[in-house]
Parts: sequence; C-alpha cells; structure tokens
Amino acid sequence: MTQPAAKRRISIFGATGSIGDSTLSILRLNPKAYDVVALTGSGNIKALAEAAREFNAEIAVTADDVRLGELKEALAGTGIEAAAGAQAIEDAASRPADWIMSAIVGAAGLPPGLKALEQGTTLALANKESLVTAGPLLLDTARRHNATILPVDSEHSAIFQALNGENIDTVERVIITASGGAFRDWPLDDIAKATPEQASSHPNWNMGQRITIDSASMFNKALELIETREFFGVQPDQIEVLIHPESLIHAMVGFCDKGLLAHVGPHDMRHAIGYALGYPNRPDLPLERLDLAKIGQLTFQAPDMARYPALELARRVMEIHGLAGAVFNGAKEAALDGFISRQIGFNDMVRVVGNVIELMSGEGLGNAAITLDSVREADQMARKHAVQSMAALKL
Ligand code: NDP
Ligand code: MG
Repeated sequence: MTQPAAKRRISIFGATGSIGDSTLSILRLNPKAYDVVALTGSGNIKALAEAAREFNAEIAVTADDVRLGELKEALAGTGIEAAAGAQAIEDAASRPADWIMSAIVGAAGLPPGLKALEQGTTLALANKESLVTAGPLLLDTARRHNATILPVDSEHSAIFQALNGENIDTVERVIITASGGAFRDWPLDDIAKATPEQASSHPNWNMGQRITIDSASMFNKALELIETREFFGVQPDQIEVLIHPESLIHAMVGFCDKGLLAHVGPHDMRHAIGYALGYPNRPDLPLERLDLAKIGQLTFQAPDMARYPALELARRVMEIHGLAGAVFNGAKEAALDGFISRQIGFNDMVRVVGNVIELMSGEGLGNAAITLDSVREADQMARKHAVQSMAALKL
C-alpha cells in the first residue's frame, strides 16, 4: 500500500491582507495537501479568526497586543492557540513549517522573515521592505541556514522565471514594468492636490491601500528597483523601469545576445504566489487565459522623471547603499502615514523622503554593518526626521 503524501506545513504572515487572502484562496484549491501552522494579522481580528477556523490553524497571532482577548473569544471552542504582539509573531515564525508566506506590509515584516529563514525553510517573499531595508542580512541569513527565498512580487517572480536555467553572467539588463499608477494621465498640477482616496484606487491591480498609494507615487517601483538589485545582485545601472499601462508584461531580462525574455501573464497576484508555492513545478491555476489577439497591442513609455521623482530617489539610495534602504523605507512609511492622515500633500511625500535621505547621508550609511539592530535604529531615526520634516512643511 502506498503511503499518502505528507502534507506540507504552511504559515502565512499577513494572512488578513490582500496577498494573504490570495494565498489562502490558492490553498483552498487543494486544502487536503496542507496543514496550516500559523496565520497572522493585525487589526482585522474577524478575518484572522475566520481563516484560522476554516484552515484549522495551529495558532493565530495578531500584532496588536490589546486585541488578544477579542481573538481568544473569536476562537473559543476550537483548540486553536491565540497570541498577540510583535514578539508572538516572531515566535510563530520559528514554528516548523515547510513554506512560509511573508506578506506583512512594511518594515514589520523583517523580524519574522529572518526567524523563518533561521529554521532553514522556504520563504515566499512578498514583503519587499525586508529586501529594501536589510537585503544583505536577509540573503546571508538564508545562506547560513540553507533556506530558500522565492520572490512573490510580480516583477521579481517574472525575473526569477526568466532567469531559470540562464547564466546570470550573461544578463545585461533587467527591465521592470510599471502601470504608471492612478495618476499616470493626470496633469501635474492636479496630482499635487490628490487625496488619499484618489491615490487608493489602482487602474489594474487590486492590492492593499499602502502599496496602492505607493504605486501612484511610484514609491512602489522605487522600492522594487532596490529589491531587484538586492535579490538578483545586478548593478543599479543594469535595472530599468518601463511604463507599461496594460500591466501584462511584468518584467523582462535582457541578455548579452540582445535577446529579451519577457514574462507575460494576467495581472493577478495568484500567479506569482502559486508559482512560489508550486516551485519548482508549475501549478494548475484557475486564472484568466489571456486572449492576446483581443488585447491587440502592448504599449511602453519611458518614465517621465518630473512625474515620478521617487525613481530618482531610489537611484540615490542604491548609490549610497548600506543602510540607505532602511532610511528610505522608514521615511517613506512615515510620509505615507502623513499623507493618509492628511497632514501633508501627495507631492510632499517625496520631498520629505528626499530631505531625510540627504540629512542622514552624511552619517556613514553606506559603510555601516547591516544587522537587525542597525536597521531598526536607521528606520527609527528616519521616521523621526520624517516627522520633523513634515512639521516643517506645515509651517
Ligand atoms: P495589506 O495591507 O492588504 O495587508 C497587510 C497585512 O499585514 C495584513 O495582514 C495586516 O493585518 C498585516 N499587518 C499590518 N501591520 C502589521 C504590523 N505592524 N505587524 C504585523 N502585521 C501587520 O497589504 P498587501 O497584502 O497589499 O501587501 C503585503 C506585502 O506584500 C507588502 O510588503 C506589499 O508591498 C507586498 N506586495 C503586495 C502586492 C499586492 O498585490 N497586494 C504585490 C506585490 C507585493 P490587518 O489587515 O489584520 O491589519
Ligand atoms: Mg510589484
């Protein structure tokens, strides 16, 4: 008699978000193949408890310490453990699992990502902020513990797929595409007055609010430039951004024979998530089958730097390197909070982040050792300077 195949143990960090939800929907296609270990969320206790009940998770963790009672109540009678707080999220990342999704938004995704890698598992990385703030630390932790990182950001999944079987030394350039975000066709004067609501709607992708606003400001693409450099080890001048309004080509890799390998697919994150879950095999996914004849044409434009100054900032960050990524991301997260709470305008976000980078660039950012402590310190300092810079803008 053949033994039934062992179930894969799966954890999802950020299970209540857009990526988390898409990951759960993929598990739902074949639920008997998985044992769900840990699911984490933050403010959305109802969604966390529902998912934990549906998948009979071992443990559900909220980042929000004061919501533990509520979570316990929502899980009453199930036997599912409940925990709360940042430390509990890190501890959950140490629970043995075969595949762990890193889909917390922001710098908070780094500590559990590192803990997951320390158990030598496979980390599916949607949390681009981990690579931006601490790329060398993340990759080194993976190497030391024989762990695997698989990219989930659609552009990086596309690059990863195009590089399959190729020699990295033959790569001349990497092109990541951008839809252009919510304000691609807006007059520049109107963009200055854009509200958080207007910036929170994306023409092509359905994502969490923060990354959607980052797409409108192109901070998302700025993070992705840095992410590409950190993950694939290519030089900054080898990475290009191309505006591609249809969002069907996610990235292209250009080789020394001048050929380009492009990855074309529907704009649906379930593709990249499913690829990371099935790797090295391709899963059968119930996604839209592109009708290219009907689509007719794919278009491309060079990014207009007056419209997207965040891309220039990313170049500056890559030039400084070291802790500049942590500073960039920390300042960006604080400026984004400032925009969402209507303290500053849309274009002020890039001003604030630029101010913080210039202010801190004299502090030996490029040569500093990248440790969890140094990254946290740079992140905190950047947020503090960003708050001061926002206050100064209002004067
Ligand atoms: P969402 O805002 O939809 O979800 C974020 C998740 O993180 C939620 O589960 C949220 O919990 C949780 N969370 C929020 N703050 C904290 C915290 N301080 N500590 C622990 N958990 C927290 O984000 P997305 O799913 O859109 O994005 C997740 C990550 O994936 C980001 O890094 C993003 O850049 C990246 N990504 C997303 C893509 C997308 O299509 N959405 C595409 C490519 C990359 P709760 O909701 O319960 O408050
Ligand atoms: Mg992306």
